[in-house]
Amino acid sequence: MNFKDLPVSALMDITSRPEIVFTEGAGSWLTDHNGKKYLDFIQGWAVNALGHSPKAIVDALAAQAPRLITPSPAFYNLPAIELANVLISSSCFQRVFFTNSGAEANEGAIKLARKWGKKHKDGAYEIITTVGSFHGRTIATMSASGKPGWDTMFAPQVPGFPKATLNDLASVEALINPKTVGIMLEPVQGEGGVNLATPEFMRGLRALADRHKLLLICDEVQTGVGRLGTLFGYQHYGVEPDIMTLGKGIGGGVPLGALMAKLEASVFEHGDQGGTYNGNPLMCAVGLAVMGEVAKPAFLAHVKRAGAHLSERLSALSRQMGLGEERGIGLLRALDLKDEIGAQVVSVAREGLTGVPGWAGRGLLLNSPRPPLLRFMPALNVSIEEIDLMIEGLAATLKIVRGK
Ligand SMILES: *Cc1c(COP(=O)(O)O)cnc(C)c1O
Repeated sequence: MNFKDLPVSALMDITSRPEIVFTEGAGSWLTDHNGKKYLDFIQGWAVNALGHSPKAIVDALAAQAPRLITPSPAFYNLPAIELANVLISSSCFQRVFFTNSGAEANEGAIKLARKWGKKHKDGAYEIITTVGSFHGRTIATMSASGKPGWDTMFAPQVPGFPKATLNDLASVEALINPKTVGIMLEPVQGEGGVNLATPEFMRGLRALADRHKLLLICDEVQTGVGRLGTLFGYQHYGVEPDIMTLGKGIGGGVPLGALMAKLEASVFEHGDQGGTYNGNPLMCAVGLAVMGEVAKPAFLAHVKRAGAHLSERLSALSRQMGLGEERGIGLLRALDLKDEIGAQVVSVAREGLTGVPGWAGRGLLLNSPRPPLLRFMPALNVSIEEIDLMIEGLAATLKIVRGK
């Protein structure tokens, strides 16, 4: 297949894409239209919790598709009931609303908080979010996000999202007023560059929320479903939110998200929330398959072990090559390159390793969320050997980039 012959311009040009087309995936590996293989440490942006086309998901789709794809969310279906109960029994929440994406789950969380404010807090509607946060690409979730430039991009914004600073409790407290209904944050800012909330900050937010009668909302679209080595990120911190959102990993690659709430916060009335595909059995069957794998006793232990190994190897590489800080929790990690060479590293790892022993016909997929930073979000079942191979590829890449 020749890339130049493909009529790609029919697709809206929303981002600069490399001239490769992926045609197959298996586990931690992708194959492009020329048969070149790539070791994938992006995994659909922390989406493919079980890697590419895992048997559990293929089987779940093959079993559910001929049975029932969707009867409409106006009716019950078995996979949705079952998945909601699995999620409830493994978390601190009592109610679930399924969505098709992380942004939609966060939209739901914002609506739920505003509804709760109307019912219980005199119409309070402001949700304090953090600078550097990412909550999605709908107008409301862009407004909630603390990404530089997003406040003017599709102005006017949705009002009601004052921004505090991560790990600065006083900056949150200073924004609390009678209109405040909640605080929303990612336990680890993912797109913002793997910025970790400290345990003291999370505990402080819980105390502030309790003192001022506010909802604590955790956006766990990236940190949920095993990514941090615990089933949900809040469990790593030992701090229970009132509302949590899931996306990415819960679907293992298919469009599935969830809005979860404690009983007291679950205040939607008929007509408040819905959506054509929400909770459809095909996607929920996949969510069940993912949860089934992640719930196996050895699974989270593996995420912790693989995360510790990745951390050690990145730290050693940093010492050896004079790079900056390595940080993260579980299998959501970042490495500070100290120089703004992230984009070059990404492209050389993908395209330029073919002359390196062991990498003929192979490439490495890495992500650089900010110019001096690399982020690592492999499949949760990535092997120790694949981590070691990635480190070799990264070391070779850095030598090439720095030699230029
Ligand atoms: C990816 C992400 C979202 C948006 O999810 P989509 O499925 O792309 O809408 C929201 N919040 C966080 C923390 C994310 O990482």
